[in-house]
Amino acid sequence: MQLTIDRSPIRNVVRPLIFSREDWPMVGEGRKAQIQGLPGTWFKLPENSPLKGALTLICCPGCKKISILLKKDRKIDVFGKVSPSFKCASKECSFHHTIYLDKWHDGKTLYAIATIERGKIEFTYCHATNDTEARFHLGAGRYKIIGIAPAIGLWANDRNGRDLSV
Ligand SMILES: [Zn+2]
Repeated sequence: MQLTIDRSPIRNVVRPLIFSREDWPMVGEGRKAQIQGLPGTWFKLPENSPLKGALTLICCPGCKKISILLKKDRKIDVFGKVSPSFKCASKECSFHHTIYLDKWHDGKTLYAIATIERGKIEFTYCHATNDTEARFHLGAGRYKIIGIAPAIGLWANDRNGRDLSV
């Protein structure tokens, strides 16, 4: 059997990184208690969060430090896309990337849809409960669908034994 190398244009597509939603653990007790971020994930702030003006917390996959995304600086749309792109708040860290937050909208799973139109491959992201709903969100067009699946990207090296992939 002969192996062939796929030279499709997919290798030229720069894809965003997907941050999964995780419940970050607290370490320490009482006034010394601190939240511990899981790299490559985001944390949903509670309704009564003392962090006024904060959108959410992001744990950098590069330096493992926590960044607070502020409402005045960033926007997160219904697709979970962070705009402008996420730049780690740590001065020693150069992590800067377009990111999407899984389960940002209604707690639904973020889906990635790969399409091709006139030889150009594109990825579209949306929150959905299944493939059919994701396809519905994509809408009409002259594209051909290559695949639809839950989006995965970064995984924290967490208690479930998942590894960070960056
Ligand atoms: Zn960083």
